[in-house]
Amino acid sequence: VILFIIAHNNAATGFTFLSNDIVNQFASQDSFKCTTMELHDKHLKDDPGYEKRLQELELLTKKYIANRKPSDTAIVKVPVVVHIIYNTPYQNISNARIQSQIDALNRDFRRLNWDTSNTPVPYKYLGADTRIEFVLAKRDPWGNPSIGITRTQTSVSMFIFNDAIKFTAQGGNDIWDRDKYLNFWIGNIQYYGAYTQLPGYYPETDGAVMHYIYFGSVGTTLSENSKGRVAVHEVGHWFNLQHLWGISNCGTDYVDDTPTQFAANFHCPVFPVITCNNGPYGDMFMNYMDGTSDDCRNMFTIGQRDRMSAALYTYRSGLINSEGGIPVSGLTIAHFRSDRMSVNFGQSINFIDESGGIPTNWQWTFEGGVPSSSNQ
Ligand code: ZN
Ligand code: CA
Repeated sequence: VILFIIAHNNAATGFTFLSNDIVNQFASQDSFKCTTMELHDKHLKDDPGYEKRLQELELLTKKYIANRKPSDTAIVKVPVVVHIIYNTPYQNISNARIQSQIDALNRDFRRLNWDTSNTPVPYKYLGADTRIEFVLAKRDPWGNPSIGITRTQTSVSMFIFNDAIKFTAQGGNDIWDRDKYLNFWIGNIQYYGAYTQLPGYYPETDGAVMHYIYFGSVGTTLSENSKGRVAVHEVGHWFNLQHLWGISNCGTDYVDDTPTQFAANFHCPVFPVITCNNGPYGDMFMNYMDGTSDDCRNMFTIGQRDRMSAALYTYRSGLINSEGGIPVSGLTIAHFRSDRMSVNFGQSINFIDESGGIPTNWQWTFEGGVPSSSNQ
C-alpha cells in the first residue's frame, strides 16, 4: 500500500495540516493537531465583539490573579458530558474508554501522573496541581438521571471545521448548559482534528471537539497519543490557556512562568530546545500546552494553574455549584468502572459503582471470578 500525503506547514502555529482531498483512515493518526487558534482567528473575523470581550477577560484574569483568595484552592469537581456522535459502530466508543479519559484528566490536572519524574529538574518546581477534577455528569440539564454520556447516530460521515457537531439540527447534538457542564463532542472530525472554543465566544458552542481516535486511554491504537493527553490539552484551552508560543512565532501565552518559545514541538525532543533566546533551559516542551506526544508531556505550571483558576472562579464559576455531578432519585442507570482493564491470572480487579440516579440495591455477577457474584 502506498500512501501519498501532501502537507504544508502553517507558519503561525507550526501545526501541519493534511490537504483536504487525501485525508484517509490511515494517514497521520499519530500527529496530534489542535486547531483551537485557527478557530480563534475565525472568531476574530466573524464576530466584531469578540476581541473586546477577550480584552475584558484578560483584565479580569489579571485582576483575579493579583487578588487570589487562599480559599480558592478547594478541589472543584467539574461535571462533564461527553457527546458521542457516531456514523459507524466503531466510532461509538465504549463507556469504559470514556471513563478512562475522565481518569486521565483527573490524573494530570491533579499532578498525580506517573511521569512527573520526567519533568526536567530546572522546571520541576513549577509543576502544579490545578485542584480541578472532573466527573461524568449524574444528571442532565433537565434534572433527569444521567451517566454524562449522550450517544447520537448521525448521517454525517465526517465533520468539517464548522461546529455542526454541536447542533442536533446539523447531525450533532446540542450543548448542555456550558455554565454547568464541560461539553465534549467526539466524532469523526476532519484532519483527525481537535479544537476547543476559548472563553469569550458564544455559549451555544462553548466546549471541546475531538476526533474519537484521541479520546480515552484504553482501547486506542495510537502510539503517540494513547494516554488521554490530547483532551488534557484541550481542557487547558477551555480554561483559557493558549499554546506556549501564543498566536505567532515567539508570541505570548499570557503566562509568566512558561518560557517564550518559537512554535510547537512535536514527538519528543531532547532537552534543552533553545529558541527565542530562552536559554539555558529552553522550550517547556514537556508542558501539556505544547504539541508533543503523550509520553513527553507531563506538566501544567503554577502560572497556568492561576490562569485556569481565574477562569474557574470568575466567568466559569457556575461550574463550582453546578448540580450536574449530583445524582437525582428516580430511574437509575447502571454504570460502573474498574480500576484496571487487564490483569494477569490470579490478580484482582476492583469495580466501582458509578450509576446514575440513586440506586438502592446492587447485583453483580462475575463469571468465573472469585466471588462470582455480589450484592455490595
Ligand atoms: Zn491547542
Ligand atoms: Ca509564557
